[in-house]
Amino acid sequence: MTQHIRISEVGLRDGLQSIDRVMSTEAKKAWILAEVAAGVTEMEVGSFVPPSLLPQMADTAEIVAFAKTVPELAVVALVPNLKGAERAIAAGVDKMSIPFSMSETHSLKNVRKNHAEMLEQIAAIARLVAAQPEGQRPQFEVGLSTAFGCTMEGPVPEDQVVRLAEQTIAAGVAEVCLSDTTGYANPAQVRRLVRAVKAAVGADRLNTLHLHNTRGLGLANVLAGLEEGITTFDSSMGGIGGCPFAPGASGNIVTEDLVFMLEAMGLHTGIDIAGLIEVRRIIAEALPGEPLYGFIPDAGVTLGFERVVG
Ligand code: ZN
Repeated sequence: MTQHIRISEVGLRDGLQSIDRVMSTEAKKAWILAEVAAGVTEMEVGSFVPPSLLPQMADTAEIVAFAKTVPELAVVALVPNLKGAERAIAAGVDKMSIPFSMSETHSLKNVRKNHAEMLEQIAAIARLVAAQPEGQRPQFEVGLSTAFGCTMEGPVPEDQVVRLAEQTIAAGVAEVCLSDTTGYANPAQVRRLVRAVKAAVGADRLNTLHLHNTRGLGLANVLAGLEEGITTFDSSMGGIGGCPFAPGASGNIVTEDLVFMLEAMGLHTGIDIAGLIEVRRIIAEALPGEPLYGFIPDAGVTLGFERVVG
């Protein structure tokens, strides 16, 4: 049986929050419908941060409510804290994810919380989730951000990431994800850190990588993750959003290219590349002039690709 790899589209959150312009609610809805039609089954559709901080995410509750009406779609939202988690649960998300910066400097600068305070916040959210009635508990995942390096601290010690992953699981969380927030990761490091964290917390508690393509190593890092048993990858249509730390650089790994690589390797994503090109058209129309990255939209797939992926 062909191995199935899940792609979690994060462009509506990670991509759009990095762009100053606000995409209209109608365009977001059209994006969601088109990408689900292309075969994507999980999308992070927004962030429950205060709208005053990120006006791009102000319609997140409405977008979640809409996405929940789309069959077969797991609806994910980012939550910055307990208050955000309460809003996400009220909106009915299937899954919520909180970023936990492995660099304490980055954590203090971003959310004004040190590691101990973040772990308290995470435990409080885990208790909130557990208190929901059976069948209405969203999945709760902690994204170990800046796990591969930090723009303020530089290298982040791997034993620190492993220790914080263990403390996160001990706080009552089912799953962690490793996030290359800054585009610092390389394949050897991905292999090492995935292996170390899986060994420490249990292989089934780390299934997802969140990678950026800031330095062009995104897909190489995917391959390293695949070889260590990772089964879910976050990616963004057109790699939109860029990188706040590296002007001109692309953002998340590009969904279109990622799907091509996985399918060409004989893995199964359930996603149709022609369908993704249609999504890309919707995004380009909604955000005229915004750079869209990726090779497959320009080069096309290889001759005979459709026969290979069947
Ligand atoms: Zn990111």
